[in-house]
Order: sequence, then C-alpha cells, then structure tokens
Amino acid sequence: MKAAVYKGYGLPLEIEEVPNPAPKEGEVLVKVASTGICHSDLHLLSGELVGPLPNGFIIGHEIAGWVEKIGENVKNPYGLKEGDPVLVSWIVPCGICRYCANGKENYCKDNAKRLVGLIGINGGHAEYLTVPEIAVIPLAKNLDPYYSSPIACAYGTAYNALKSANATSGKSVVIVGAGGVGSAAIQLANSIGLNPIVAVDIDENKLKSAKLLGATHIINANENDARAKVLEALEDGADIVYETKPYPDFKLSLEVVKSGGTIVVTGLGGFSTLAQIPVTLFVSRGITLIGSLGYRPRIDLPDLVSLASSGKIDIKKLVSHIYTPDMINEAYENLKKGLHIRAIIRWN
Ligand SMILES: [Zn+2]
Ligand SMILES: [Zn+2]
Repeated sequence: MKAAVYKGYGLPLEIEEVPNPAPKEGEVLVKVASTGICHSDLHLLSGELVGPLPNGFIIGHEIAGWVEKIGENVKNPYGLKEGDPVLVSWIVPCGICRYCANGKENYCKDNAKRLVGLIGINGGHAEYLTVPEIAVIPLAKNLDPYYSSPIACAYGTAYNALKSANATSGKSVVIVGAGGVGSAAIQLANSIGLNPIVAVDIDENKLKSAKLLGATHIINANENDARAKVLEALEDGADIVYETKPYPDFKLSLEVVKSGGTIVVTGLGGFSTLAQIPVTLFVSRGITLIGSLGYRPRIDLPDLVSLASSGKIDIKKLVSHIYTPDMINEAYENLKKGLHIRAIIRWN
C-alpha cells in the first residue's frame, strides 16, 4: 500500500510502497478515506510532543474510512461488517483502568504507550491501517467518509472541551483561535445554543469563515484592542473562554472571562512549552482553568456522528482544503502558514 513514511527529524515525509498491514487478534483493518492535517502533528514531527519518532513510523490521527477486514476474536459491539463506514479514534482506551471505568477514557493509563498515529500505533496517512477494535466507531450511512475525518480530532476535541466547561444553552463563549478546532467549536457552540459566540483570531480569512460557521461576533486581534472589543460585545465578560492556543500567556482569556467563569484549553505544545498566567487576575476573580485532552471515543464520537448525521453541524463546511497524498509535505507547510481551516488528505 501507499503510505507517508517518517524518515527522520527535519526530513520530509516520503510517499512509499509498504507492506499492507494485516489485522491481528482483536484488531480491525480499516481502508482510509481521508486523514486530517492537524496542528499537533507539527509538534509530533519536531519531536517536542512525545520525543523522537521511530524511523518508518506513519503519522496521521484524524481518520475516517471503511472496515476492510475484521480480525479474529473481535467482540464487535456495533455489529460492523466489511465495507461499513467508520471513524478511527486516536485515543485507544484499555476499557478497564479506573479512568476508563469512570467515563474518563481520554485519560486512560495506556495513553503513554499507544495513541494511533502518535505513539506506538501507525496512523492514517496511508491507504490502510490496523487498530484495536475499541478505536473503531461506526459512522452514519448518510455521512461521506471523505469529509468525516475531522470528527475524529477537531470536532471531538472541541466537543469534549465544551462539555468539560459545562457549556449549556444561553451561556456566552469567546473562542480564541479560529483554526480547525476553534472552527469546530463555533459550530458546536451554535448547536448547543451558546450565545453570543465571539471568535478572536489574527487572520481575516479565518474570521470570515468563523462568521459563516456561526460566530455572532468576530474580532481581529491584530487590528483591534481585542479585550475592549470583546467587552463591548459582552459587557460583563464571557461565561466560558475556549483558548485553543494558550501560549505565550492567558492574558486575553483572563481579561475577557467573567468573574467565576471558566477557561478551557486544548491546544498542545511541546512538553517544555510554558504559558504564563497573570496570577492576581486569576485568583481575584475566581476563575476555573481546565485542561482537556481529545475526546472520549465511545461517548463523544457517537454523539458527534448523530449531531452531524441529523444536520445539527455541517461537517463539510469545516474542510477548506483537500490534498492528494503526494502533496502531504506541502499540506503541512501550508498549515504552518495558517492557510487552512481544516485540510484533509484523500487516501483512497
Ligand atoms: Zn489532532
Ligand atoms: Zn484505560
């Protein structure tokens, strides 16, 4: 099969023919429709996220496709058959540790050793991949797998973050950063009934797109005093601030959140990346600061599939660029330049 293979630090990914993977016991072979180009991949490739990648590793963690083959001793709780459209979760819960048992499977103790396309399990920048069956979630038949991969990272991450921040109808939200995850959050905030929804970014194109996706207010932080503009829209500040890129500091988030409000953060940096907190502002206003990793595959992904399938979120609107596999390095370069809302590679 064709795959984008990691060849070493600083080197481009190489499109190569590699042996087709075969599903081992408890695994499913998935034929990849599309895999997303996610910002976390840049930290992964630079070695800051999980350390140096092994040569020959295949990245790509935002994956949708079809069941190609079901391995032996697969329990198959969803009754999947060959050809069924599916999402692949990058979080692979063990299903039995105390995090998994308590509905916090995104913090599974196995995360340190296996995450699809990130640690230990080859990812979706390939025509096929094999994964433990727990990472395979059915996709609704009325959703196009080619456009569905962002459910398995951008939407999942935004959905779990909003839930962690107790986002309910009628609350106000400021979303800082209108890239893939921020834009997914805007659509989800809309479907939940949050209002107003204020999007802040420094890129005019991303802000225009944010408006189309449902932001009630858009603020260009390069051209305006973002704090003053947000407080013009939300006199008392926001109930929730969703910060998608927390470094170098939390200044704006703390300035625009209500006293007693919540800031939720999902953007990853390297393990040595620091973000500063103006501590007096934080303490004197009783702010809750929440970190939120990814999503709970068996809880959040089926919820999102049903939101997308019923038309409450329009997943096609998030995909701004579609690349062929031979353009994968260009796709990551364009991501660095800030050109995408969400880009995907079509693999089959
Ligand atoms: Zn991602
Ligand atoms: Zn677990």
